[in-house]
Amino acid sequence: MTVTRENKIEQESTKREFYHLIINGEKVKSSTGETIKTYNPATGELIAEVAKASKEDANNAVAAARDAFDNGKWKKYPIGRRAQVLNKISAIMRTRFNEIVELEILDTGKSLHAAQGQVTQAIEDFEFYAGAIVGHRGTVNNVPGQFHNYTEKEPVGVCAQIIPWNYPLMMAAWKVAPAIAVGCSVIVKPASLTPLTAIILGEICLEAGVPAGVVNVIPGSGADVGNFLVEHPKVDKVAFTGSTPIGKDIMGKASQTLKRVTLELGGKSPSLVFEDADIDAAVDGSLFGIFYNSGQSCEARSRLYVHEDIYDEFMSKFVEKTKKLQLGNPFDKTTHMGAIIDQGQLDTIDGYVQSAKKEGAEILAGGNVAKPEGYENGYWYEPTIISNVNHDMSIVKEEIFGPVVVVMKFKDEKEAIRLANDTEFGLGSAVWSKDGARATRVANQIQAGIVMINCPFSAFPGTPFGGYKQSGFGRELCIETLDLYSETKSILSYYGSRPLNPFGL
Ligand code: NAD
Repeated sequence: MTVTRENKIEQESTKREFYHLIINGEKVKSSTGETIKTYNPATGELIAEVAKASKEDANNAVAAARDAFDNGKWKKYPIGRRAQVLNKISAIMRTRFNEIVELEILDTGKSLHAAQGQVTQAIEDFEFYAGAIVGHRGTVNNVPGQFHNYTEKEPVGVCAQIIPWNYPLMMAAWKVAPAIAVGCSVIVKPASLTPLTAIILGEICLEAGVPAGVVNVIPGSGADVGNFLVEHPKVDKVAFTGSTPIGKDIMGKASQTLKRVTLELGGKSPSLVFEDADIDAAVDGSLFGIFYNSGQSCEARSRLYVHEDIYDEFMSKFVEKTKKLQLGNPFDKTTHMGAIIDQGQLDTIDGYVQSAKKEGAEILAGGNVAKPEGYENGYWYEPTIISNVNHDMSIVKEEIFGPVVVVMKFKDEKEAIRLANDTEFGLGSAVWSKDGARATRVANQIQAGIVMINCPFSAFPGTPFGGYKQSGFGRELCIETLDLYSETKSILSYYGSRPLNPFGL
């Protein structure tokens, strides 16, 4: 996309050989000339080269965002006008839906149905926040008669938004949409493995009328550029989605300048299947719960606990259906599971599985690197079910971020809740039971930000998404997110007829 002198937008194809950084409304190369090569994980083939931001580029992006925020017009627009631009972002994304889906599949190796769902949700996020921002306002508060107090919501300022590789566009949308709805300026730092659709989103923001400098996109190294943004004194907030160890590092470093921080981190989410569950629904929901996005989901239900009375029936159906899952051409509608993001992640997954085997775990399905026909050069892992495990094993305690689920039996509700909560994480969870009273009772005792009752899905625009414990804090995707990009200013006035003289002098 280029903006010509006549201010006409000339749109480039979504799929290209080279992608630029977006800084201050311009498409620019890296100051060092360095690039990132991005590969298709399904085939191992090179897709494109991307400008790799340096610290100098990051500094330029912060300066642009700062200037757009401090001196620009975006935050001063009437709310309705900002909402109109957000709706236009969605409208442009809709017209380019198939191209964006294609790019997301090439960059991540995920399946068509997964990419379509995530691009759809990214579009709906902008529509949601276009509506939500209109109702986002301060309060008028009770104070003694001659005083008046009201609050204003003001945008927090310049926000660094650091994105993981598993949902590149959707995670960018979860962050950019609420931040710019409130009036903030942002610097998006996509994961180096999957930078393409965040760049396209940045271009679409400009095309839709977001002023220069409000949305900057700078793919680059996390340790280098990401860290630089976190420590930068002119950045007011960091919104981070990624692993728990990096989240801890960011929280420590952001404390030096007292930045506002939102952390969406890892998980090891439990699914509890009670003896009164609809077994078929629980089997289908549990399959989706772990194998969607090839298990590379923060809220993947990777610990499955099944009541001992139905364990055999449940497991026989669960194993049978797992073996039917199709891996292969991500663009094929019948493919259930796409690729793993890269060789490093594939090695991590297989490392967990092989060490669990050595510790005596039993593999009920999968357990190996996969080689779908025609995709032998990509990174694939079989959908894997592991039993005969316990809570001391790393396969049960740690986030694997792959298509691997561990299963255990439980005897009663109390034990199920204890097992579910026996983790340092607290992101997702699922309860399968036809007894509404029990399901609610269990949901109330689970220490997690999200509980899915008889439901395979974790979130829609409007439903809060975020964690307890070491899964982070702050909620995205919902009305409350707007507050996380705002400061509340309290304005207290005195209207009495006599001047106040508190010291009595
Ligand atoms: P990651 O933590 O390795 O990287 C995430 C992002 O942080 C990337 O852009 C990376 O470049 C950047 N980064 C790395 N080191 C940094 C540093 N020192 N300072 C600043 N930025 C740095 O995570 P990943 O491997 O890309 O993604 C997988 C993780 O993300 C999993 O743990 C998953 O659970 C988590 N995740 C959480 C959610 C959620 O909503 N809770 C959603 C998706 C993914």
